Amino acid sequence: MKRHETLPLVPITRGAGVWLFDADGRRYLDTVSSWWVNLFGHCNPRINASLTDQLGKLEHVMLAGFTHEPVVQLSERLRELAPVGLGHCFYASDGASATEIALKMSAHYWRNHGQSEKSQFISLANSYHGETLGALSVTDVALFKDAYGVLVRQNSTVPSPDWRDAASGESAEDYALRCAAALETHLQQHHSQLAAFIIEPLVQGAAGMAMYHSAYLRRARELCRQYGVHLIADEIAVGMGRTGTLFACEQGGIAPDFLLLSKGITGGYLPLSVVMTTDAIYQAFYANEVARGFLHSHSYTGNPLACRAALATLDIFAADDVIAANQRKATRFNQLAAPLREHPKVKDFRNTGMIWAFEVETPHRDFAQRCFSLGLQHELLLRPMGNTVYFMPPYVISEEEFRMLVTHTLTIIEQLT
Ligand SMILES: *Cc1c(COP(=O)(O)O)cnc(C)c1O
Repeated sequence: MKRHETLPLVPITRGAGVWLFDADGRRYLDTVSSWWVNLFGHCNPRINASLTDQLGKLEHVMLAGFTHEPVVQLSERLRELAPVGLGHCFYASDGASATEIALKMSAHYWRNHGQSEKSQFISLANSYHGETLGALSVTDVALFKDAYGVLVRQNSTVPSPDWRDAASGESAEDYALRCAAALETHLQQHHSQLAAFIIEPLVQGAAGMAMYHSAYLRRARELCRQYGVHLIADEIAVGMGRTGTLFACEQGGIAPDFLLLSKGITGGYLPLSVVMTTDAIYQAFYANEVARGFLHSHSYTGNPLACRAALATLDIFAADDVIAANQRKATRFNQLAAPLREHPKVKDFRNTGMIWAFEVETPHRDFAQRCFSLGLQHELLLRPMGNTVYFMPPYVISEEEFRMLVTHTLTIIEQLT
């Protein structure tokens, strides 16, 4: 709040497509999809229509002893779309809760199998899986974690396959395999204590859009199976088409034991998250004894409005062949972004699916704040992480809008380098 003494909050009154409008009628291109949640634009007419329809039928009912059509349909559609074997859905309302659920379910699975010593977790260096206490225990971002160190269980990290850390001359794939070898060493030594390995497949968002080769996913899947450790794929940010396939895991040709979805799942409309898992895990809890069951309740679990928003989102993916359309868009946008990629102060320009990122060489220590406020003056909502500028726009962004994004970003970079 102190920062807002010099940089007032922007009161948004209206949204349409990629644009947000403030109380004075100024507009801002939502280049970060309102923290990575929006897929098909603000006030999308098709999602609006679904929600209006649902509002006239049922706004909410508890999902204990009762069920409803939207949650059944959504679970069945997700099962068809997800990697094979992930046939069960458990709902919550946000990403961090999905992480909590997966961690609890993994450890409880081992306990139900008489292996309660398997209760530790590993994550990648610079991982981000949410900010509740359990999620923080597998998050490796000092800024979010240090103040709560005494409250948080310490888990270990293994090296991140982020290709920016590759040795000179080493390919992204070779580096990914070198990191997988380090994972193997860790698993060899610690598997008897380990419940699960949690990863953000292909792109570590909060690490500054760190990108890595899909060979790592393949190898991690094999190793986790070999050492009897669950693999949790946190696709909260990268799922729902963000990396160029509906789920990032598809690019490694793998099925995790848990798949976490949130953010884009409702098209950015309503809070909803889901933990998808396998029949083997489901069966470990299926018993007469209550204590063997998975006792984890959320008041709004499986909310019908949120499920309808998710169903409308999946309808748009199918009707508009969004994955193929995004691939064409990304190719074109990479051409349009050439002046940024070639800018002398821009480093490590990278792209995966509908995510672009690069570092800026700047003398300003407060680069992120300056870039944000200059962005507002140039009709852009840009929120760099440190010196990393990224674009993660709604998929409905047009060529004209992307061109404007590149031009205005270049102007801003000129002023800050
Ligand atoms: C955003 C995010 C989360 C947390 O989701 P919230 O809804 O903000 O709690 C977890 N994991 C990843 C990879 C994320 O990007």
